[in-house]
Amino acid sequence: MPEGDTVWRTARRLDQALSGSVLVTSDFRVPAYATLDLSGRTVVETLARGKHLLTRIRKGDDEVTLHTHLKMEGSWHLYREGTPWRRPAHQARVVLRTAEWTAVGFSLAIVEVLGRAEEDQVVGHLGPDLLGPDWDLEEAVRRVTSDPERAVGEAILDQRNLAGIGNMYKSELCFLLGLGPWLPVGEVPDVAALLRQARRVLEANKLRTAQTTTGDTRRGRELWVYRRDGRPCRRCGTAVEVGMQGPQTQERATYWCPHCQPARQG
Ligand SMILES: [Zn+2]
Repeated sequence: MPEGDTVWRTARRLDQALSGSVLVTSDFRVPAYATLDLSGRTVVETLARGKHLLTRIRKGDDEVTLHTHLKMEGSWHLYREGTPWRRPAHQARVVLRTAEWTAVGFSLAIVEVLGRAEEDQVVGHLGPDLLGPDWDLEEAVRRVTSDPERAVGEAILDQRNLAGIGNMYKSELCFLLGLGPWLPVGEVPDVAALLRQARRVLEANKLRTAQTTTGDTRRGRELWVYRRDGRPCRRCGTAVEVGMQGPQTQERATYWCPHCQPARQG
């Protein structure tokens, strides 16, 4: 599942390639928009809000927003004319062509076209965006700590509290701060420090294709605990554990070192 930094990088690539250009053709391969034609319109910009992508497209005063979300399998690719696609064509959900580029959105979990003024309906619920220009640490801390009983691993993954952390960074951040993922937020000694660290890690990785939290970008050494269950902790050698965490039906795998991340503080 792409994390906030991956989505941010996707937005930046789309923005650099498409903004200011006129769409020569648009092709929506989802039933709701099968007949929608945005050709002749100008792409204004693409930006990320948390893990949501917003591509604003204008004709005169009429501005619409293409809202997409990568969820588990989605990706946006950019191709020059005549270049073979790197994913099967049947996975394409949106194809936008300018004179220079073909942008293809594969296996997107959300594809919808809204009036520009309706963006808030799809991203208005999000907490402060870790990579957004309007990042607000205090507000994020307020939201995360509003339910002190909630497990810290769940609270920082909830996009209504702050936007941008996915399942991988959730586990890694809890490790970096020495917090058991089930520790109630009310017992986390310094929530602000945790969120500052989250921002540092996403900022450091937003321009990289290989994400790292260890500082080591060599293959297999990038992460502390994520997907390393049963293997020795890089710090203390204890076997990394895995467990399911989250509200019913939305449980996600969480990884932690039981020695470095005690279940209770003090
Ligand atoms: Zn350890």
